[in-house]
Amino acid sequence: MAFAKPKYGSDFTYIKEYKVPQPDLKKGENTSVLEFRIIPPIKSFEQAGKWAVYDALHYGYCGTHPRDNSKKVVRPFVCPEQKDYNTKLITHVCKECNQIRLRKETLAAAIAKAEQLKKTPEEIRKLVSPLADWVKFHNRDAKWKINIKLPTNEFGVLKLSHTTKKLLDVEINAVMTNRHIDPIDGDQGVWFRITRVATGDRPNDVRDSVSIVMVQKNVQVDGQMMTVEVLKDAKLTEADFEQAMQKCADLPTYSPRISDDQIDMLVKSSGDPEEVDKIWGISHSTEESQEFVDDDPLPDFSKQETATVAQTAPITQDTTATTTIAPQSTTFNLGGIEFATPQKESEKPKETPVPDIMNMNTKEMTDEEFLKAFKVS
Ligand SMILES: [Zn+2]
Repeated sequence: MAFAKPKYGSDFTYIKEYKVPQPDLKKGENTSVLEFRIIPPIKSFEQAGKWAVYDALHYGYCGTHPRDNSKKVVRPFVCPEQKDYNTKLITHVCKECNQIRLRKETLAAAIAKAEQLKKTPEEIRKLVSPLADWVKFHNRDAKWKINIKLPTNEFGVLKLSHTTKKLLDVEINAVMTNRHIDPIDGDQGVWFRITRVATGDRPNDVRDSVSIVMVQKNVQVDGQMMTVEVLKDAKLTEADFEQAMQKCADLPTYSPRISDDQIDMLVKSSGDPEEVDKIWGISHSTEESQEFVDDDPLPDFSKQETATVAQTAPITQDTTATTTIAPQSTTFNLGGIEFATPQKESEKPKETPVPDIMNMNTKEMTDEEFLKAFKVS
């Protein structure tokens, strides 16, 4: 196969991101499906033979839109936190994670205190909403990233949860063991199908399963016509390869990384988009702006096309959320009541069980559900 030259400059194509679609409960749908063909190792991963990466992105900070100063764009960055999985101790500290943990603990403490003061759920929700908005906006999204081709001949990056990626790995092993074929190799390969089934009323109440895509074929056996199931043809052509080189990610460098010092500065910043861009080292002078747009490695969220099969959750988050929480503050005055962060940030923090509110639609929750979501059990 021939390698195509990657495109740069004004022809630069933003990489499309896909995720497993949610069943549309409002339309009465119970299941949704995504079919894809994994792209074999390309670009920097070619030698290593790798085809997937796992990282977590922090979404709490916005910069200025390169072409429209009145708009903001989310500037996500890779979380550098590392953990010893045996001791559960954090071996490399991420200042943003620390800050998020503190805020979540403060929020839980604030709810507990307001309950002690016999406030109603509605009152408490109003009181803690600025802090809850902050926590929700400072989303940390850990996902696998895999280059894929869709049946529609589109290419891009599939984002999968760790749970679903494990199911995919099981299916990959099953294909190799039972069918003796390489499920990713360009000359063979298979199409995978992820089926998502709704298990409850909430968007997060879903269960995924992974299978391989089969098609029916009519064949003649001893003069008789029979219908058999065979693997859907997944051979990749040279044209596919060129498309993949243009439209798929160089996975090891796909997610933007900044230094620990930069993260420290972001955490201490006011969160003002100009200040955020300064920390990122992004200049907005008009002379450079054209160049900046072309070479900007960051996805431009306001411009990014939303693929029909997928909407990338963190990108659609409300960037206008009011983050009025002062940086580094450990006490909050919410509606005249003082709330303090229950504990100081320690040098080697242990993982604290904190509520996972990442994909929750807090706006649709009742007051009781809302408070329950932010409580630390
Ligand atoms: Zn982090």
